[in-house]
Amino acid sequence: MRIGHGYDLHRLEPVAPHGTGRPFVLGGIKFDHGAGPVAHSDGDALLHAVTDAILGALGEPDIGQLFPDSDQANEGSDSARFLVEAVARMRRARFEIGNIDCTVICEQPKIGPRRAEIVHRLGSLLGCPTELVNVKGKTHERVDAVGEGRAIEVHVSVLLRPMT
Ligand code: MG
Repeated sequence: MRIGHGYDLHRLEPVAPHGTGRPFVLGGIKFDHGAGPVAHSDGDALLHAVTDAILGALGEPDIGQLFPDSDQANEGSDSARFLVEAVARMRRARFEIGNIDCTVICEQPKIGPRRAEIVHRLGSLLGCPTELVNVKGKTHERVDAVGEGRAIEVHVSVLLRPMT
């Protein structure tokens, strides 16, 4: 078995035209929210952290090496594309998801009401039953950048097991 850890943080800014933030998207699910991530891609911090957790478990190069922000092809990209590539590499290495546990930390928007949609979307991207996918939302108790609503942070642990 292989264990992987993924982490990501994006700065949040008012969404254009009021600022440089992109529309808020998390786990491939769009939120109606006034602030969004500053990013070269669509800024989906959850998909980035999940991608990095899988790549890390495989001992592969990280998301920034595979999809550099200097590459115009990644400008505004749907981050599902990055995760699909990580899952393809996982399958080529003959591994599948054992389970995956994600912690999203942000003040707003609230993750709880959209949790089931996010879990469903992750399960579909990962090609695994939703029972193997867990997503938790937390706040940062109003302290530091995340707690002041200026950033979103995601931690992910994944266990890969040999394909059955
Ligand atoms: Mg990122």
